Amino acid sequence: MKTCKRCRKKRADVVLSGVRFCSSCFIEYFEKQVQRAINGEKLGVQMFSKDDRILVAVSGGKDSMSLWNVLNDLGYETCGFHIDLGIDEYSEASRRVVENFAASKNLDLIVVDLRKEYGRSLFELAARDACSACGLVKRYLMNKVAHEENFSVLATGHTLDDECATLLGNLTRWNLEFLRRQHPVLESTHPKLVRKVKPLFRVTDEETAAYARIKQLNYVREKCPLARGATSLSYKNALNELERRHPGLKKAFYLGFLRNKALFGSDEGFELKECEACGMPTANVGRCAFCKLLERSEQ
Ligand code: AMP
Ligand code: ZN
Repeated sequence: MKTCKRCRKKRADVVLSGVRFCSSCFIEYFEKQVQRAINGEKLGVQMFSKDDRILVAVSGGKDSMSLWNVLNDLGYETCGFHIDLGIDEYSEASRRVVENFAASKNLDLIVVDLRKEYGRSLFELAARDACSACGLVKRYLMNKVAHEENFSVLATGHTLDDECATLLGNLTRWNLEFLRRQHPVLESTHPKLVRKVKPLFRVTDEETAAYARIKQLNYVREKCPLARGATSLSYKNALNELERRHPGLKKAFYLGFLRNKALFGSDEGFELKECEACGMPTANVGRCAFCKLLERSEQ
């Protein structure tokens, strides 16, 4: 019998990058990584404390469901937030997963249904460029709801793989503006902008999948039908290939970026205005990108 490399007693049933763990040691390791992220190790700033009310954005996928579960197990006060984008069976299944989880753990959940709230599904809002509209809609609604419901912090399920793929994308295009704003903790820079954090930035997709399996979490396995072939996936695949040849590369890449972030400058002095239609913060003069999207889809 192969035993766990940590306790050297129990049978190893998780193998990650050649390292064997038993289930309980793996969960301990995973929770410790998340706790280190929350405590702000390598960040110099704590994400949140037990006094905060945290709005957790949950898509119904493995990462955000794992995030909600681990934050709850670690004793934080959470409320789920789900956006029903109205993308046929995919959205129905996602919503069901999230609602069932909330009910089983007796946790609060806020759902915004795009069709009910705005009269249009994501596809009706932006058929041609649904993926970028989706990002915009999610960012807007997450912040709006967190602000209106008085949450001190909003948490998303971005993992180390997500952050590395975004970083590689930002670097290949030398998008300095995005590089300046990429961080696991985004402070509020406007009274209507809620602090955003990514407590899973120290764990990989593979580790999150192992966590979800051991915890027997129910989640939606299908990828969004609109996102097939998304560029972030090719960056993830390339990074996985590099990681296979050079174990530890992803963590070194991302933590190195955090250490050297000052190289890209700061966006201090960047002033946000308020949208003339909805009042939410925006870099635009006049209407925010979300209100413009609504306006365009009415035409
Ligand atoms: P994605 O951009 O789909 O990789 O999602 C990144 C993060 O955004 C997820 O980990 C969730 O925290 C959040 N998220 C994505 N989709 C939704 C949704 N429909 N409702 C609420 N949060 C979401
Ligand atoms: Zn607006």
